[in-house]
Amino acid sequence: MLHVAVVGSGPSGCYTAQSLVQADPEVLVDVLDRLPCPYGLVRYGVAPDHEKIKSLQNNLRSVLEHERVRFLGGVPVGPGGIPASRLRELYHAVVYCVGASTDRHLGIPGEDLPGSWSATQFVAWYSAHPDAADDDGFVRDARSAVVIGVGNVAVDVTRMLARGAAELSTTDIPQAALGALAASRVTNIHMVGRRGPSQARFTTKELRELSGLPDTEVSVDPAELALDPAYADPSALPTARRRNVEVLRGWAAEASAPGAGSAARTASRSIALRFFLRPVELLADKGRVGAVRFERTVCDEDGGVTGTGRYEEIEAQLVLRSVGYRGLPLEGLPFDATRGTVPHLAGRVLRESAVGPGEYVAGWIKRGPTGVIGTNRPDAKETATSLLEDAPVLLRKDVPGDPLAALRAAGVEPVTWTGWQAIERAEAALGASLGRSVVKLADWESLLAAARTAAP
Ligand code: NAP
Repeated sequence: MLHVAVVGSGPSGCYTAQSLVQADPEVLVDVLDRLPCPYGLVRYGVAPDHEKIKSLQNNLRSVLEHERVRFLGGVPVGPGGIPASRLRELYHAVVYCVGASTDRHLGIPGEDLPGSWSATQFVAWYSAHPDAADDDGFVRDARSAVVIGVGNVAVDVTRMLARGAAELSTTDIPQAALGALAASRVTNIHMVGRRGPSQARFTTKELRELSGLPDTEVSVDPAELALDPAYADPSALPTARRRNVEVLRGWAAEASAPGAGSAARTASRSIALRFFLRPVELLADKGRVGAVRFERTVCDEDGGVTGTGRYEEIEAQLVLRSVGYRGLPLEGLPFDATRGTVPHLAGRVLRESAVGPGEYVAGWIKRGPTGVIGTNRPDAKETATSLLEDAPVLLRKDVPGDPLAALRAAGVEPVTWTGWQAIERAEAALGASLGRSVVKLADWESLLAAARTAAP
């Protein structure tokens, strides 16, 4: 049997495991995760109100319950955990599916002022990530919020800021985050792109959802949209971008229709979509962020933008920087610092332009933080195909019969599938005690205590 370790139990890890066991009956896969819970960004990234996308967990669950796949949570690989070199001794092959775990920086003055957070931090908090900031003060004392960036994460955090308590209480959002968002007085949310509407990265379905939020008005400025050369006639744009522009044109037309504005006056919250504004500084007010200063931009010939020397300030006591994720280097693996990915050839890790069988990558650490969950399927399949092609060579290596004993000998006590099921029961019980459905446990101690109640 070929023993494979997949590091990371998010979509790319699960789809890699699935591709391997489906393609070859002689493969056993351990899916390792540093967290006690599986599913990666499906559990800790997909917004709580996106229940349909979250239900993808059911597909991933069936992979992790496959008879030749085993989930081992609470197993960090690298510094402070199992050294990558040791993992290589325990398995014929290791596939890294660790995603892009940090956020990009703006590199502008004031970025680190209190009240300025990366969207990643905010998402981790409302998703109950056990490493999230132990601080429920994101929205405290804030009336106006600026979200920098116009990707799908920006749309997620904008929408979450605009959701009311009634809509959130039916989700699995942790109780503390629910309480904080229910008490939020953030009424003005600005989502700001440095380029034009035809270059925005959000997908149309996600964009459209903003206009369906209860008690919330969405606004665009037709004159600002018209700064985009593709705005007047978007027909030549790629489909996804054309649809985005069409939605925005529709909103602009509604805004200028006779009688428009009466709904706006009755809505409690507003979301303003702004474009061609590049952040240049976060301005302080009484020791915390008070506004963001932007420079007006115009399109250049290369699809980018240049500054015009004209500036605008938008008031904000909360700033969420949503400018993309970034991969981190992994112990013992080569790393392309520019792209934030591990160099590879069809999923095989490339060292100094040569592949050495036994190490593979899939998902965001392979291709960068792009695409939707489904993008990981073909990506994982490519890596699994490469690995299985290498199997004759990989099988020449001697590995222990069951790596679990070796992991335990190294001081790691993994959370097994029954441990995870105990966490799920504890989350259902917590929800019931609060009069809600499932409510996520938000800290390491509670997660591990719940896992320990499982029968060995
Ligand atoms: P993203 O799609 O790469 O968007 C990043 C945004 O940040 C872009 O608007 C980018 O503008 C802007 N940006 C980057 N650097 C900037 C700077 N220095 N100043 C101002 N703006 C800057 O990243 P993401 O939103 O984090 O999403 C990551 C991936 O997850 C995407 O593939 C996304 O579709 C996916 N995702 C999907 C869903 C869903 O399907 N519901 C939900 C969440 C995330 P430029 O274009 O000008 O660089």
